[in-house]
Amino acid sequence: MWYWILHVMGADNLSGPWYGFWSGFGSDLGEIAIIGGLISIYRRHNCHVKGCWRIGKHPVAGTTYVVCRQHHPDAAPTHQEVLAAHRAAKVRDA
Ligand SMILES: [Zn+2]
Repeated sequence: MWYWILHVMGADNLSGPWYGFWSGFGSDLGEIAIIGGLISIYRRHNCHVKGCWRIGKHPVAGTTYVVCRQHHPDAAPTHQEVLAAHRAAKVRDA
């Protein structure tokens, strides 16, 4: 009787194991693609300095290199320097 109920519900359907196999296989491929995608995104955005794992956000003037704060040739500007550069740009444009 119990077997008959399972049979009607499709639990012992022959396509069941295969469906499980393919969906498991597919999700593994999906995970590999996601991890591979994350690695390629990371490799595109990390510092260009060899062996540096930090995220590179700072383009080096005159080059195509993008490096992290640690490897950038210029020191971080102070607030005063940012304001001075802003005022100088406004004067230059006027
Ligand atoms: Zn770096």
